[in-house]
Amino acid sequence: MDAAQRAMDQLEEWPDLVRAIPTCGVGQALRTTDVEIVHFHSEHDADLHLTRAVILRLHPELSRSTAIRLLPGSAWVGIHLDCDDDIDLLATLTSLALQAHARVWPGPNTMPCSRCLTAATAKHHATHTRIGSRLRRRRRRTRDGA
Ligand SMILES: [Zn+2]
Repeated sequence: MDAAQRAMDQLEEWPDLVRAIPTCGVGQALRTTDVEIVHFHSEHDADLHLTRAVILRLHPELSRSTAIRLLPGSAWVGIHLDCDDDIDLLATLTSLALQAHARVWPGPNTMPCSRCLTAATAKHHATHTRIGSRLRRRRRRTRDGA
C-alpha cells in the first residue's frame, strides 16, 4: 500500500475528518464539516491546509524539513510521503491544522490548495502575457498605419 493511502486510512479514523472529493479535483481529500484539511494528490504527495498563522509560526521548522514544500502566500503546505516518519509528520501537522481551524470563526473557507494556487498563478500570468502581446500587436499596427 502506498504512503498516501496509509496516511489517509490512518487520518480517516479521526472523528473530525471525513473523506471527500477535493475542490481541485485531483486525488482525494479529508475534510471537516467546515473546511478541507488534506488533499492527497498522488501516491506520495499530500497538501495540508495548515493555515497561514501556523505556517508563519512554524516557518523555521517547516523550512528545515525536506519532506515539506512551502509555497509563498499559500495557506497550504505540500508534504512528500515516503516513509512512516512522513506519515507521522503529516498526522502531527494535521492535528495542528485542526486546532488552528477550530480557533477561527466557522464559515465558508475557499483558500485554494497549493496545486490550485500554482495553476491560478500560471493562468494569471498567461492572461497577462496574452494581453501584453495583444497590446504590442495593436501598437505595431498603429505605427505601420501611420
Ligand atoms: Zn488539491
